[in-house]
Amino acid sequence: MAKHTVYITQHGDKDDISVEAETLGDDVDLRLLRATDPAEIASIVQDADALLVWRTPMPASVIEALRRCKVIVRCGVGFDIVDIHAARESGIPVCNVPDYGTDDVADHAFGLILALRRGLLAFSDLVRGGNEGWGYEAAGRLSRLTGQTLAIVGFGRIGTAVALRAKAFGMRVVVYDPYVPRGQEKAIGVERVWSLPDLLGQADVVSLHTPLTPETRGLADAAFFNALKPGALVINTSRGRVLDVDALEAALRSGRVLAAGLDVLPTEPPNPAPALLQAWRDGEEWIKHRLIVTPHAAFYNEESYREMRVKAAQTAREALDGLPPRNCVNL
Ligand code: NAD
Repeated sequence: MAKHTVYITQHGDKDDISVEAETLGDDVDLRLLRATDPAEIASIVQDADALLVWRTPMPASVIEALRRCKVIVRCGVGFDIVDIHAARESGIPVCNVPDYGTDDVADHAFGLILALRRGLLAFSDLVRGGNEGWGYEAAGRLSRLTGQTLAIVGFGRIGTAVALRAKAFGMRVVVYDPYVPRGQEKAIGVERVWSLPDLLGQADVVSLHTPLTPETRGLADAAFFNALKPGALVINTSRGRVLDVDALEAALRSGRVLAAGLDVLPTEPPNPAPALLQAWRDGEEWIKHRLIVTPHAAFYNEESYREMRVKAAQTAREALDGLPPRNCVNL
């Protein structure tokens, strides 16, 4: 006999909720929520004891409709799609799953760095085109990664994991994060600066790892790119709206930025596509081999995906059992 009602929003095109159902247990009636319109969602979820949220936004209008919800669990790290203030007003804890994909996103960020610095896109394309493309100079002038400076914006879990990888590659690592305690940089063995311009002026590669907040929205803007060392790489695996894609396009066109790797975009999937993406999709010569875009997939592999599903459901289960909310971000 089900004691609790839990709704889970759709993830990707998959309807499989077996992992969550198994984790939540037999006394939970787990229902798949396909609706995306807030008014429709609000009318459906009123009786929810818990919500598991993938990528469907949960605005105040939905949260205010919840009559007995004990927890909203965001299946992921970022929780900007949930109105956490409205949830606080309603006394509902919002929890995230902060640790399921730390290594995976760091690997992805580093994969983007390596692919761009090693000219992998150009080499692969040219060799596929025939033996005329067989030549070490075919990808243009490459520079040695060892000894270059990686600038990390946001020295939290993923930023730290990227820093550790960069050290193994012989890079110098400098971080900017006004919020982590002093000494964190010493524990990891990296340098720290206290202003963004100080960081950017030394960056051969800059990698973004902040959450999306009012402060970080549009943080990588025209001034940010102009402050970079010429020829830098820009990597964003954080949140799309942290980076102004039009400003990045201008910086790529001017050559200030040599190349960029983006796993996230302001709107996902991009509709309409920003001009930069359209130029790249159209195969325009100036952007060839200088851009990699992946579909917000940095977190993904079979193991991390399962870990997220289990941990999200465990968090909901604990709240249903009256335990203190784990990884609460709003109370
Ligand atoms: P975290 O909370 O551990 O680290 C974020 C760090 O950013 C914190 O240390 C914080 O102090 C710092 N920060 C906040 N505002 C800042 C500012 N204005 N300037 C500099 N630093 C600032 O988060 P995390 O787990 O490392 O995740 C980092 C980002 O990666 C988040 O945006 C998250 O949503 C995103 N993410 C993306 C994927 C993906 O698949 N692409 C997967 C997981 C997480």
